[in-house]
Amino acid sequence: MDTSSSCNLHVAIVSSPGVGHLIPAVVLGNRLAAHHGVRVVVFQVTTEASPPESKLLKLPLHQLVELVELPPVDISHLVGPTTQVVTQLCLMLRHARPLASSAVAAMDPRPAALVVDHFGTELLSIAAEFGMAKYVYVPSNAWFAALTLYLPVLDQQVEGQYVDQTEPLEIPGCKPVRPEDVVDPMLDRNDQQYDEYVKMGLAMASSDGILINSWEDLDHKTLQALRKNETLKSVIKTPVLLVGPLTRPVEPDGQNIKLMSWLDRQPNESVVFVSFGSGGVLPQAQITELAWGLELSQQRFVWVVRRPTDGRVDDAFFALSDGTDEAPTFLPNGFMGRVQNVGFLVPKWAQQVQILTHPAIGGFLSHCGWNSTLESITNGVPIIAWPLYAEQKMNATFLAEEAGVALRPRAAPVVGRAEIERSVRTLMEGEDGKSLREKVKQLKMSGNEALKVGGSSHNSMCEVLAKIASSKGQ
Ligand code: UDP
Repeated sequence: MDTSSSCNLHVAIVSSPGVGHLIPAVVLGNRLAAHHGVRVVVFQVTTEASPPESKLLKLPLHQLVELVELPPVDISHLVGPTTQVVTQLCLMLRHARPLASSAVAAMDPRPAALVVDHFGTELLSIAAEFGMAKYVYVPSNAWFAALTLYLPVLDQQVEGQYVDQTEPLEIPGCKPVRPEDVVDPMLDRNDQQYDEYVKMGLAMASSDGILINSWEDLDHKTLQALRKNETLKSVIKTPVLLVGPLTRPVEPDGQNIKLMSWLDRQPNESVVFVSFGSGGVLPQAQITELAWGLELSQQRFVWVVRRPTDGRVDDAFFALSDGTDEAPTFLPNGFMGRVQNVGFLVPKWAQQVQILTHPAIGGFLSHCGWNSTLESITNGVPIIAWPLYAEQKMNATFLAEEAGVALRPRAAPVVGRAEIERSVRTLMEGEDGKSLREKVKQLKMSGNEALKVGGSSHNSMCEVLAKIASSKGQ
């Protein structure tokens, strides 16, 4: 632990609603506490309809970290069936501002810094109100952060919809973004979530610094651009600091015993783990192709299965624990019997980190959410990139083309069974799979190094804390 710069520091972190936002906030808090001796309060913005998955999460907290749920915000009168996710999140955070402000006001002594995630940038004004340092934590990669920060410029330069452009979108010095890979809020410039996203980029630029859950070796190209490209530097003046990879620790779970003992019986690196994050669900046609593709690949697999829907969240739990249960009707006829020796199905939710750390896991068919991505890389597991929404297409492109740790099946828009079979076989048995595995293992080591005392991410965090400590005295 390096507490030289941070003794007695107290930091408040605000997390947006949803498991995918709460996990990185708590993980950041635990890191600050355990490695830098910082006292942390995490304020969790909640809604009446907070996803049920959060109840399935067991997030261990360091003794210096306190998790405080803010009272639920109600934005039901402001949203309709067509209100997009980013708009909803920004509205929730906007409406949580008075709650967060009162919570901070009630604290004595007051924290020296406020850290918000990228949906909470409007809450940075609370920091100004109470004389605190203000930081944005983007639990994603630097390329995504660069796009968000550069968007106000693209907004001025690019005519028409981004998705209709014939050329990739240029971010000076960075990998260009292909129109088909743009993040969800850029899909339709006429939608409110696009305006919210532009505002987010502007507000992030007004913070004291942007913390990214990545590290120098992984995000080298974008980092160089942020440090050296004069055009980019003239737009992004706020320091961008890479402080990752920050991931959840393994949380052993008694309910996982059957799966873990099944994995114990499989050879090392022989099983592909299939999961689409906290809210990813597939339509029926895609589930059928995935089931067939896995079966045809003849590889071992663990699949976190969810009932098909065309929406994003599936609340219904269904009975299925392993190959012995009766198959749900949305899987192909006879599937469970045919795969019972090679496949293990987990309904709805699995202890993902525990699974990914198991030596039997040799590949991850993933939606490329950033938490899942880091959990895979830090365990040396190569990826089949299957993005669904949000910034996942950019992540998939980054992982396949820049980081060299993923292969990407052709989507058309349903990924067919032959393509799935080919991808799984290539990852688990092919030469391409071998080189992805080597690269991911190198990154696993460099991620470990980055977090050690004297490593690049550790140094960046010390730099931030020293700045907060010095601003506290002002
Ligand atoms: N997760 C899990 N079990 C599941 C699905 C997800 O433990 O069955 C965890 C996963 O380990 C990760 C988080 O939920 O930490 C998902 O975050 P990510 O950024 O990958 O995707 P999102 O859910 O935000 O789309």
